[in-house]
Amino acid sequence: MSEKGEIIFQGVAASGGICRGRVFVLGRRHLHVPHRMITQDDVNEELKRLEESIVSTRKQLTDLHQSLREQVGSHDADIFEAHLLVLEDHALIDETTKLVECDLCNVEYAYQKVTNKYAKALESMEDDYLRERAVDLRDVSNRLLSHLLGHAEEDYPYNNMREPCIVVGHDLTPSTTVMLDRKMVLGFATDVGSKTSHTAILARALKIPAVVGLHNISSKIESGQGILLDGHNGKVIENPSDQTLFEYGHVIRKNEDQDVRLAKVRELAAVTLDGHEVTLAANLDQASEATDITKYGAEGVGLFRSEYLFLNRSTWPDEDLQTGVYAQVAEALSPDPIIIRTLDLGADKLSTLTRTNGEEPNPALGWRAIRYCLDHREIFKTQLKSILRAGSKRNIKIMFPMITTLSELDQALELLEESKQSLRQEGKPFDAGMKVGVMIETPGAVMIADTLASKVNFFSIGTNDLIQYSLAVDRTNDKIAHLYNPTHPGIIRSIRQVIVAAHKAGIHVGICGEMAGEPDFVPLLLGLGVDELSASAPLIPQVKYLIRRLKIEESRALAEQALTMQYSHEILEASRTLMQRVAPEIVN
Ligand code: PEP
Ligand code: MG
Repeated sequence: MSEKGEIIFQGVAASGGICRGRVFVLGRRHLHVPHRMITQDDVNEELKRLEESIVSTRKQLTDLHQSLREQVGSHDADIFEAHLLVLEDHALIDETTKLVECDLCNVEYAYQKVTNKYAKALESMEDDYLRERAVDLRDVSNRLLSHLLGHAEEDYPYNNMREPCIVVGHDLTPSTTVMLDRKMVLGFATDVGSKTSHTAILARALKIPAVVGLHNISSKIESGQGILLDGHNGKVIENPSDQTLFEYGHVIRKNEDQDVRLAKVRELAAVTLDGHEVTLAANLDQASEATDITKYGAEGVGLFRSEYLFLNRSTWPDEDLQTGVYAQVAEALSPDPIIIRTLDLGADKLSTLTRTNGEEPNPALGWRAIRYCLDHREIFKTQLKSILRAGSKRNIKIMFPMITTLSELDQALELLEESKQSLRQEGKPFDAGMKVGVMIETPGAVMIADTLASKVNFFSIGTNDLIQYSLAVDRTNDKIAHLYNPTHPGIIRSIRQVIVAAHKAGIHVGICGEMAGEPDFVPLLLGLGVDELSASAPLIPQVKYLIRRLKIEESRALAEQALTMQYSHEILEASRTLMQRVAPEIVN
């Protein structure tokens, strides 16, 4: 055992699984650029440093470009090509050189001064495209400055990792998470975040064990230290004792047994013991993962988060490019249905494309999803046309996120009609009868579910947001993660209300929030009457295994009882008790 003894950090369990390995701490990107005076004799040395840093930054960008292309396809990796052009821009290099020669200052100071000047000029432009270039310029500038200051490894570590590690950082945004090289990341642990933050959702989709909301782990732990990460119970253990390692050996074997057991149900139907069928679909964040979905035994995609196509890019994806991506997913899964959700950028899913909109005081309540799209009609129509065109196999459905008012839905439907009209005029084939649905993820939408139901073909309840907005609990804030309560009686009643309204109107209703993939909640959701559950693909086998051990009658009785309960913990216990009675072997 190590001299220091075992130290346990408790956080939020974000993605199941256990891993052990060395830590790789991601640096925070606060660059302090010193201002030094140099002598005439130092000038050549300073300029040589600039040259060397450009060469190493170029190599880093090319490697990142290559690794992202392999993981997510070429269009998502385009941003690095644009960054290479900025890096090699002659005006920037010449002006920096002049400043070093004339002002006799250190090169990092000169480079930052020059790039700041250009970035500010771009930020003040009227033209959206030019304003967006400021983001690229600042990004490249920080990258080069990191090299000049000798921080490059900490700031952009992914392709500098020498062995598979557990990545520890203050935060990982969805756009940095998609860049992780999965082969090199055993797990990750972050200071902030909660179970339904998009980074946690991605970790589950990528099957990477993760613990978030650890408060200050990134400043307490150092690169190279050995840790054990328990993604089931939200624990990170530094210097695990022999006893701990022995106990975890059992859990790892239990996990392996579970994998074998679950593999057997993958091909079977999601049907209860008394014959009630449920549609079990997968959530998809990146098109490149579409082929994994059938491997986990899902029947199509219940939520394709199309906004991932818009992250890490320097230009908006055009109609043909989007059509190609959507058609590729539809083709890979045909004849199973895929539900493509239109762009839900905003809140924690920020794109370099929208960053120039300026910071919002309250992003989750701000300019996201349908609100952003209705204010950017050309961007929205391009996407609608692409989805319609990609539907030639007739297995695509379209879904609008964050609908809160009937008039938002009316406007979205109107733009969908206009998009069809444009395609007719352009002579491009498309699916004219494409089914349309809305996400129910705000309390306002719950209350008018009956009205919304009369205008669409299906609902999908987004519990991640519905919980955050109903309980006024930021889904990404680790300080209040304990208040984020899926079994709050208000949430259970809301889900029931939506299901009743949908069924009364004769439409199908699914759940695509993270609740759908959690065994604790599955008996309750079934009993409340959902027709479909859509979860991260790796969670599908355990949900199916559980459904096949339940009886719909006992689930309905549980739901009836839950609707009369007053406390969240009573509802959770009742659902968990049923889950554990019918499938005690599930490692949750
Ligand atoms: C939800 O809010 O439940 C949902 C599925 O959408 P997202 O997690 O992408 O906000
Ligand atoms: Mg949502």
